[in-house]
Amino acid sequence: MEYRLQDKQISYLASVMRINDSKLPAILRIQSKVLKTMTDILLEKDFQWVLPVMLAKSTDPLWPDPGYSIEERIEVEVYGTKVKTMQSMIVHKRVLVSLGPEKIFILSPNIRIESRKRMTTGKHLYEFTQLDLESAYAKMRDIFQLFEELVTKSIEVVKKEMRRELEILSRDLRVPNTPFRVYKRSELEKEYGDNWEEEISKTSEDPVWVTDIPREFYDYQDFETGEWRNYDLILPEGYGEVLSGAEREYEYEKLLKKITRDGLRKEDYRIILDLAEKKLLKPSAGAGIGVERFIRYICGLKHVGEVQPFPRIPGIVPDL
Ligand code: ASP
Ligand code: MG
Repeated sequence: MEYRLQDKQISYLASVMRINDSKLPAILRIQSKVLKTMTDILLEKDFQWVLPVMLAKSTDPLWPDPGYSIEERIEVEVYGTKVKTMQSMIVHKRVLVSLGPEKIFILSPNIRIESRKRMTTGKHLYEFTQLDLESAYAKMRDIFQLFEELVTKSIEVVKKEMRRELEILSRDLRVPNTPFRVYKRSELEKEYGDNWEEEISKTSEDPVWVTDIPREFYDYQDFETGEWRNYDLILPEGYGEVLSGAEREYEYEKLLKKITRDGLRKEDYRIILDLAEKKLLKPSAGAGIGVERFIRYICGLKHVGEVQPFPRIPGIVPDL
C-alpha cells in the first residue's frame, strides 16, 4: 500500500520525532511520577500487579470496533505453534480474575499495527502501553470512580510537584472536577454526527465518559434493550479517547452467540468459553488507560509519539 507524505506532514513529523528534543527528560519525569501515583493507588486498594504476557494463542480481536483500522495482525510460530502478539490482555484478565486474585492490573505493552493514514492524527501509535485493570464483580460505576481518582490524583500531583517540568513544556494544566459527566454515544451522535468524539473532546472542560458503544463480544450487552454497558473516557482540549472498558459478558450462551455473530473463531476463545460453560467465569468490569495518551495530555503535546523515547508512529519504522 503506497502512502505518500506531504511536505506539511514531513515537517510536522520531524518536529515530533526526537530530532531536536529538549523536552523528553521533562516528559519522562512526569511519566514516572504519574505511573508511581497510579500504581500506588491501585496497590493500596489491594489490586495485584501482574506482569504482562506478550505472545499467546488468544488476544483481543479488536473487532468489531467503530474505531477499527488495523493494517496487519502479527502472528509468529514458536515451538511449532502459531501465536499472536498482544493487541490487549482482555482474555487473560478475564481468566485471571475468575481464578483469583480478583483485582489485578498490568502495564501491558500492546501492538496494534494501525493504518499508516493515522500517522498524523497525533494520537495513534503501533506500540503502546496501557495500564489495564480488571475487578471481579465490579460495576461500571465502580470503574468510573476508580479512574476518576487515578486521573485527578495524577494531575494534582504533577501540578503540585512538577512545576518546573510543566514550565519547560509551557503547559497550563487544570485539575478536573469529579464526577465526570456521562453521555450516551447515541446522544452525542445525534448532537454532533459521526465526528462526536472530536467535538465533545473540543467542547468539554473536563474528561467525559461515553457509554453504550457497540463493539467486541466481551463487553456486556443487554439483549433486551440492546444497550451496551461499556465506556470510553474522552479527554478535553481535543485530546480524544484515552481509555476503554466495560462490564463483561460471563454467560456461555451469550458469549457463544456474540463470537459467532462477529465471525470470530470459537477455538481462539476456548478457555473463556469453557470457564463460562462451567459457570466459573466471574462477572467483572475493567478498563485500560493508554499511558502515552494520558501523558501526552498532561504534558500538552502535539503527538503521542513525543512521549516515547523510541516513537512508534504509524507508518514509520525507525532504527531503534
Ligand atoms: N483494555 C480494554 C478493556 O479493558 C480493551 C482494550 O484494550 O481496548 O476493555
Ligand atoms: Mg478496545
